[in-house]
Amino acid sequence: MQPLHLTGLSQAELSDFVASLGEPDYRARQIFSQIHARRLRSFDEMTDLPKELRAKLSEQTTISTLALESRYISTDGTRRYLFKTRDNKPVETVFIPEENRDTICFSSQSGCPLQCTFCLTAQLGLLRNLTAGEIVEQIIFALNDAYGVGVQPPRGTNLVGMGAGEPFLNFEELMKAIRIMKEPNGLHIVPNRTTVSTAGIVPRIRELATIPDRPHLAISLAAPNDELRNELMPINKKWPIDELMAACKMFEKSLKRGERFTFEYVMLDGVNDSAEHARQLANLINRYRLHAKVNLIPHNPAEPLPYQPSPMVRVEAFQSILESKGVHAFIRRPRGRDILAACGQLAARSSPRLSEQL
Ligand code: SF4
Repeated sequence: MQPLHLTGLSQAELSDFVASLGEPDYRARQIFSQIHARRLRSFDEMTDLPKELRAKLSEQTTISTLALESRYISTDGTRRYLFKTRDNKPVETVFIPEENRDTICFSSQSGCPLQCTFCLTAQLGLLRNLTAGEIVEQIIFALNDAYGVGVQPPRGTNLVGMGAGEPFLNFEELMKAIRIMKEPNGLHIVPNRTTVSTAGIVPRIRELATIPDRPHLAISLAAPNDELRNELMPINKKWPIDELMAACKMFEKSLKRGERFTFEYVMLDGVNDSAEHARQLANLINRYRLHAKVNLIPHNPAEPLPYQPSPMVRVEAFQSILESKGVHAFIRRPRGRDILAACGQLAARSSPRLSEQL
């Protein structure tokens, strides 16, 4: 039997487990805080727990299940990690330092069942859903690697669920991880600092709108009409654009003051980047009166994907058309390009040339 993974337990679950060991409840709070606030990775370091309890915990449980396989560090400071789970499935995480905050891009699945044609991860298919503990561990590892074990990051931490996998196909574990990470006694990363990106799982968008303490929403759109979106993101055949927009409209009612949701639009040379596509996209957003912003994402070319990035002048022209029709659009600066850290490039390959020996 696998040892119990404590990192994926809520405080209440940890209390039950600690009670089953015959220990007082305050031990559960201590253990939770050692794992999540102090980010300790071994029971030996938990010196304020009695030795006998540490021995019991070591016998029956574990804190770490992800084994680091490779770490890549970009010239721009972005760090990309490739882990293996206990059952040998790949998991990737990206840490992006910025001036005022750090962003950690985590994976929710190993591989992905959706078949977006511009995405390398799609080539793996779905290997399996990650557990809440495996999601939380990615964040703890990245913070420890960047700052040292337990060292408070000097800037705020934002989380984005844009790594490998479709987060809304692993909804329960994703939301559990988000609840664990918001605990003031732990990592204390509130859902308001987390954005989850979906390819358009409509029922989950509707469900997310009903959750009071929920993360922000981003939708990967990639095309302004069904014909093209069916081709680029086959999930569109199940939930076409009109159904997706209707769910967005419903979601919009749950937005808090100052909050907007985002459409991510990957720019593929000669495929979805014409002036006509820009007009169609603006008309779509305006037809539904959505107060959304659009992030234009330069595509990162990678074999064997059949696409090239749009030239910057076309990306800028696309942005101007959206803006001229009242749609706020931003061009995302690619980060970690040299280490294949971009969205849609995870888990499908490693680049030994860039790997740091660990
Ligand atoms: S873009 Fe996202 S949803 Fe689509 S195949 Fe890749 S990981 Fe899955």
